[in-house]
Amino acid sequence: MTTTRTQVCIIGGGPSGLLLSQILHRAGIDTLVLERQSRAYVLGRIRAGVLEGGTMQMLRDAGVGARMDTEGFLHDGTYVATRNRGFRVDFDALIGRQVMVYGQTEVTKDLYAARDAMDGRIVDEAADVAIQDAAGTPHVTYRRDGTEHRVDCDWIAGCDGFHGLSRQTIPADVLRTVERVYPFGWLGVLSRTAPAAPELIYANHDRGFALASMRNESLSRYYIQAPVDDPLEKWTDDAFWDELRRRLPSDVADAMETGPTIEKSLAPLRSFVAEPMRWNRLFLVGDAAHIVPPTGAKGLNLAVSDVHYLSDALIRHYGGDDEGIDSYSERALARVWKATRFSWWFTTLMHRFPEDGAFGQRMKQAEIDYLESSRAAQTVMAENYVGLPF
Ligand SMILES: Cc1cc2nc3c(=O)[nH]c(=O)nc-3n(C[C@H](O)[C@H](O)[C@H](O)COP(=O)(O)OP(=O)(O)OC[C@H]3O[C@@H](n4cnc5c(N)ncnc54)[C@H](O)[C@@H]3O)c2cc1C
Repeated sequence: MTTTRTQVCIIGGGPSGLLLSQILHRAGIDTLVLERQSRAYVLGRIRAGVLEGGTMQMLRDAGVGARMDTEGFLHDGTYVATRNRGFRVDFDALIGRQVMVYGQTEVTKDLYAARDAMDGRIVDEAADVAIQDAAGTPHVTYRRDGTEHRVDCDWIAGCDGFHGLSRQTIPADVLRTVERVYPFGWLGVLSRTAPAAPELIYANHDRGFALASMRNESLSRYYIQAPVDDPLEKWTDDAFWDELRRRLPSDVADAMETGPTIEKSLAPLRSFVAEPMRWNRLFLVGDAAHIVPPTGAKGLNLAVSDVHYLSDALIRHYGGDDEGIDSYSERALARVWKATRFSWWFTTLMHRFPEDGAFGQRMKQAEIDYLESSRAAQTVMAENYVGLPF
């Protein structure tokens, strides 16, 4: 067994683990990241694509915002559609703020490049990672290439996503969880086609929700609400495009470019929150602690806001002030719950639920009509969509 030491051992090399390690390293705090997968696998994952203003600023402050600022697309608003027509919610006019379309895949690439440039320690393909004695003398063990390793540390940051081990380490009588599993999934495709519109279109339709999104001028990301147990083979490219066209306003659908898809996946939708987000010397960060349905584009942004609170807490700790450590869970969760509410609201408004019936669908249409006509309602949506302040 080899033994090494670091101040903060970070489990998970997704966006939250990498960003935390980058910020702490720049503040002179030593970290070691343990990632279960290969780097190629992590960099190949297609996930989120909309960054809040606070996320953009965090990336810039961490020295990883340059490519985002050159290659990303600032959006001043978004479209909401129902009954074959849409209207625009103008974030910039309502609250003077914007979002950035820049893929999580690119954010992760930039973070790996920055970590490499600083000789940040990242172990990929770390097997059997285990958290030991988080309530006493914390250390983490793992195996790589048949050798056992031990990392002694002051703190452990569980940045290992929803299926990771960190949350499971917290005793059942301490951890409280709440969950809502939605009765449908999102069938998503990526295609090398021009986006259907310059901004995202969220469509509520009798046949189910649809989202027209994008990564850049020649790469589009589309989603439709679909039964979560549908076999993927059922969704040929033609079947997907036909169904998407039915759900978008016809002027958009008629002009939309279609083509072979380069990625297709069906993801379940859930809201999930675990509390507290700290147990002794272990912190939970990002998807390890909470999941939101992607309708509000909050998953990645919440992971970044957790990193904001935790990096601030650890930097203050090494400066002699433990207030941030003691309040991390409470501060992070206050924002998590508000984003969970917004994601739940927007998901509920825009999707068809089995129990909706004619009345439920009319109520949703009435609420969308109200949203169209009310500056106050649009301001509430804009504030939440572009992200509440840290
Ligand atoms: C299919 C999919 C699509 C999504 N689409 C959107 C979207 O459109 N919009 C949006 O806002 N959000 C979306 N999300 C959510 C968003 O991607 C996540 O919120 C974000 O990735 C959270 O970052 P994270 O670093 O906390 O977790 P993750 O990105 O999950 O990273 C966790 C890392 O930990 C590693 N790990 C796990 N277990 C272990 C272990 N035992 N040992 C070591 N390492 C481990 C994993 O391999 C992974 O690299 C999507 C998520 C998924 C799964």
